[in-house]
Amino acid sequence: MHLLDFLFPKRCLACGKIGKYFCNRCVGKIRFIEQRETICPVCERSAIHGATHPSCKTQYTIDGLTSFFHYDGVIQKAVKALKYRFISDLANEFVSLIPQSSFFLLPKSSTFVPIPLHSARLRHRGFNQAELLGRAIANKLQIPMRTEVLKRTRSTTAQVEMKDRDKRLTNMKNAFSLHSPLRLRSGQAFSIPHSMVLFDDVFTTGATMRAAANILKRAGVEFVWGITMAR
Ligand SMILES: [Zn+2]
Ligand SMILES: [Zn+2]
Repeated sequence: MHLLDFLFPKRCLACGKIGKYFCNRCVGKIRFIEQRETICPVCERSAIHGATHPSCKTQYTIDGLTSFFHYDGVIQKAVKALKYRFISDLANEFVSLIPQSSFFLLPKSSTFVPIPLHSARLRHRGFNQAELLGRAIANKLQIPMRTEVLKRTRSTTAQVEMKDRDKRLTNMKNAFSLHSPLRLRSGQAFSIPHSMVLFDDVFTTGATMRAAANILKRAGVEFVWGITMAR
């Protein structure tokens, strides 16, 4: 046993039981998003496998969304804990809860792109929780992850603090750009992946995902799928 584990034993994030961040009892209460609960990331109505409805699609729309868990209980506790503390073994334990079958839709040749934080917020927090979790998933799936693709151009007011849905949506407009030296289409920086997976910790209004996907599609990425831990 590591000395730190002895001094500060790992505790279940929900009930405080010593041993793991997710104790067996609390894991048993996790609500997975079932096949029949998948939604279109544009209108947020029911959609098969989370694929964007053809009627919701325009040229630069995200192609679909997979979220693994409902945002409550120990899942909500884990998302919040990861926002403020860099705990990579928590990220790994969290990702190990995802059922393997959840990944069947992902193209094997995808590049994983975590949603970036604005540089000011990154400095304040010291790390990006979407990157920490994304790294754990990319490793699990053995697909490459790239962090130097998208850039957050505006320090947007934290989404959760904005109650009004319309305000949240306008808040996200032009919130992202491509990293400047990156010319996706010309392939000078790296050859353009046909398929990218955008990753974030939680899907709330979907405005973040849609804005980020829009930028990637305009750059010439053909297929953009969103993944979030919770919804
Ligand atoms: Zn517990
Ligand atoms: Zn739709």
